[in-house]
Amino acid sequence: MKKRIYLFDSYVREFEATVTDITPEGIILDKTAFYPGGGGLEADRGFIQIGQNKLEIMEVKEINGEIYHKTSNYELLQKGMKIKGEIDWNRRYRMMRLHTASHIIAAIAFSKYGARITGGNITPEYAKDDFPIENKEALQKLIEEANEIVKKSLQVKVYFLKREEALKIPGIVKLAERMPPELEVWRIVEIEGIDIQADGGPHVKNTSEIGEIVLLKIENKGKNRKRIYYTVKP
Ligand SMILES: [Zn+2]
Repeated sequence: MKKRIYLFDSYVREFEATVTDITPEGIILDKTAFYPGGGGLEADRGFIQIGQNKLEIMEVKEINGEIYHKTSNYELLQKGMKIKGEIDWNRRYRMMRLHTASHIIAAIAFSKYGARITGGNITPEYAKDDFPIENKEALQKLIEEANEIVKKSLQVKVYFLKREEALKIPGIVKLAERMPPELEVWRIVEIEGIDIQADGGPHVKNTSEIGEIVLLKIENKGKNRKRIYYTVKP
């Protein structure tokens, strides 16, 4: 867990690390700020710098608890080498804003309409969520209400709890896959008075950073199921 800088500070854009392995799936670092995706979010992209050379990181993924960074050119790389990592910040920060927005939207859907989110996905461009809500106006209202909460400049807190403690919090896992149940220590993300989740992804520190949430479209996904697409203003 300590190797994952983004779990403790989602605002680290640059970091120094050592290459511990080079594999066909990508390089492994002793620590990384690159988010490997998961919880409905896409993985980060960016660069690693070795001396004067900058290599693009095209893909980051997690396999069996290890984070792999795929790059275009492995010739310059050696085990034990010091590198500087650089996150594509525009891409990541938009995902942090959209991700935090998705928490607020899901929390209102549940508290006001008793509707649990049934699926979702976040890219840097937009997010989409599925809800068992029939009424289109209710979904439009949901976004308006989410924007009201954004404007309240609420703090988004991140802390760690032992699993037994975390499980005592009602509604802690709205999307079960966001935190593997076998983990001893859970990372908790709390938007004061609005939402509390076990969650391994990057979020903003204050709801005001989300800016304005914009509803893009509403799709019918069968009986009593709608998919909303939304984004945040640049
Ligand atoms: Zn989250």
